[in-house]
Amino acid sequence: MKDEREPSHLLIVDDDMLLRGMAAKTLRHAGFNVSDAVSGEDALAQFAERPYDLVLLDLTMPGLDGYARRIRAMAHGAQVPILILTGLNDTEAIELAYSHDATDFITKPINWTLLSHRVRYALRASLAAEATRRSRECLARAQSLAGMGNWAMFPDGRMECSTELLRMFDASVDASRCGTADAFLQRVVMHDRDRVGAARSQLAEQGTPYGMEFRIGRSDGAVRTVFEQAARIQNDHGGPTTIEGITQDITERVQARERITELAHYDGATGLPNRQFFAELAGPSLERATRNGTGCAVLHVDIDRFMGVNDAFGRSQGDAVLKTLAERLCHWIRGSDLASLGRAPADRAVLARVGGNAFTVLISDLVGKEQAAIVAQRLLKAIGQPIIVESQSLVLTASIGIAFFPNDAKDLPGLTRCAEQAVHAAKGAGRAQHRFFDEQMNAHAASRLLREADLRRGIAHNELRLHFQPKVNARSGAIVGAEALVRWQHAERGLVPPGEFIALAEETGLIQPLTDWVLESACRCLREWADAGLPSVPLSVNLAASSLADMSLAAKLSTLTQRFGLAPESLMLEMTETMLMRDVESGVALLEALRAKGFGLSLDDFGTGYSSLGYLKRFPIDELKIDRTFVTDAARGGRAGALASAIIALGRELGLQVVAEGVETSEQSAFLLSRGCKMQQGYLFSKPVPEEAYARLLRVGSIVPREECIAMAPL
Ligand code: C2E
Ligand code: MG
Ligand code: MG
Repeated sequence: MKDEREPSHLLIVDDDMLLRGMAAKTLRHAGFNVSDAVSGEDALAQFAERPYDLVLLDLTMPGLDGYARRIRAMAHGAQVPILILTGLNDTEAIELAYSHDATDFITKPINWTLLSHRVRYALRASLAAEATRRSRECLARAQSLAGMGNWAMFPDGRMECSTELLRMFDASVDASRCGTADAFLQRVVMHDRDRVGAARSQLAEQGTPYGMEFRIGRSDGAVRTVFEQAARIQNDHGGPTTIEGITQDITERVQARERITELAHYDGATGLPNRQFFAELAGPSLERATRNGTGCAVLHVDIDRFMGVNDAFGRSQGDAVLKTLAERLCHWIRGSDLASLGRAPADRAVLARVGGNAFTVLISDLVGKEQAAIVAQRLLKAIGQPIIVESQSLVLTASIGIAFFPNDAKDLPGLTRCAEQAVHAAKGAGRAQHRFFDEQMNAHAASRLLREADLRRGIAHNELRLHFQPKVNARSGAIVGAEALVRWQHAERGLVPPGEFIALAEETGLIQPLTDWVLESACRCLREWADAGLPSVPLSVNLAASSLADMSLAAKLSTLTQRFGLAPESLMLEMTETMLMRDVESGVALLEALRAKGFGLSLDDFGTGYSSLGYLKRFPIDELKIDRTFVTDAARGGRAGALASAIIALGRELGLQVVAEGVETSEQSAFLLSRGCKMQQGYLFSKPVPEEAYARLLRVGSIVPREECIAMAPL
């Protein structure tokens, strides 16, 4: 925009030299810069070279017809004030001047005293018009950026709108940007229309301003959400009262808000409410039940062995399976079954996904426990329908725990806890069934917490002990290895066997420090025995399932053996098939990493898991330990004997060392020997014994099996 302090530059266009000279002189004298042009073409050429602030144009000179319009068409010409010089009372010429986009006219003969004033006013008006135009443009840009439009509504129902508002409403109105309030109201979606109409009427009649969100439909079918604020503007000068408002398109903001709400409230994989939202939804049901003195039930539905689905088919297929299950449960809950129990379904049941493989259902207004049991049975049936995954038919089961309000707990966290405990009981009882929560379970859970704290303390107070059970060549009696077995030297309970605390340690995460302690102690013993000059035979250590998830295990064990100056072969790591089958791919990777470091690998309790023999080939192991169950009955022949023989043959075929566990009698030992299994471990040779006792056995180097020792041997 031009700086007002600079002198304005005028262009005088007239073929009359005298008049041109006079005008130029007068205007220069008044402080303007003045240029002149002798013809229309000359004027256009000069205007093209530089913009002028004002043009004085003689309309009567020959050939100038249309030049005002041509100047307007040039760059900088659109807004320049053009003053037409015309003959007095020449109305035709004046009209022509305006029709040629002139700004104003000055009649001839020119009043030289007034000329500079006329020019100055024309310039001032032009600057004001320019400022208004710029501020309007600025407002339009701001409105466009903010997706906001403004409007005014008059008592006759006319509505004047900004360009942005028209764009937002996708409305066609005349060039004056006017429409009718009714036409705009028709754009509001049916559902919101009455509300908007009522707010506007109330504003018009009582002057109550409003601010509200509503949706509008565009002709392309899109629905946008807008926020509108409006107020009544009283005209102080007796003019009509108008309503003025601003309307902003907030569709994106609303969508983001809805998405955030969805993410915060719903589970992404199944679309069901999540745990937090479930708590919100369940609140009113429990309040109603309290008011009406009715009962509610929380059913915690845990899909059995779901890890296996993820392992076998991958996580995304696992999610798809969960989605199918969620749809089934949802369908069933919405369907007629609940209604057939005499209840209106919709607000009687809330379903949510509350964990990786767990759903929760809250059923309101239950009369008796039997109804919850019926619901549980039907849910189990719905879950048990085959699901096709990668063209395989998968049949799943679930364990359901049921807790009642208000008997079992008086709030949702309590009910959830009880239902989860009942699930543990259902799983413990063999899965695929429902279980009610009861006090005994509560007591069990409390005692479990105590036992956990006790074990934590025991580990911290160094109460763990290692016992060692020799592995013997049954033909010669030579000790060829040993297994380290953990015990807990408890102040009150005495020596506690691992069967009573390993599972607890696994459930509570204490298995990690326990395993670390066992490994370190085993290495320390190996070092001490070597230092004492005892024969060096490998020592086996049992790994826990969680150890197999630790990909840095091989590196950690290497560091450990190096710290004690031991060869890796002196350590043999025992794990079960079940542990490896949880995630075959990473199991194989871990075994390979351990093997690469030189550690011995042994498959414990072989035959009790449910691995396929196909996998056995893939596990890079050195040793198979035949489970005691096959050994116990082996000597009597029959199926156990046949199986033991088959396992021995299989191990040999695969080039593995086969060890029989739990050999208690010389018959068993002889049978195994006759089938080619000379490596044996069991009470017949020695029970697991403390460190010093094992050191003594090692010093001798061999064991003569004596059955009568079994009864007398320590734990
Ligand atoms: P396992 O690894 O299969 O160990 C063999 C179990 O059979 C030992 O029981 C041993 O005492 C017992 N056994 C050995 N010979 C005979 C026999 O002739 N007759 C009978 N009836 N039993 C025999 P233990 O020491 O009670 O250990 C039980 C299980 O606890 C072990 O089974 C192993 O799975 C686990 N375990 C023991 N120590 C550890 C450990 O340090 N870490 C981990 N993660 N698990 C361990
Ligand atoms: Mg073992
Ligand atoms: Mg075993």
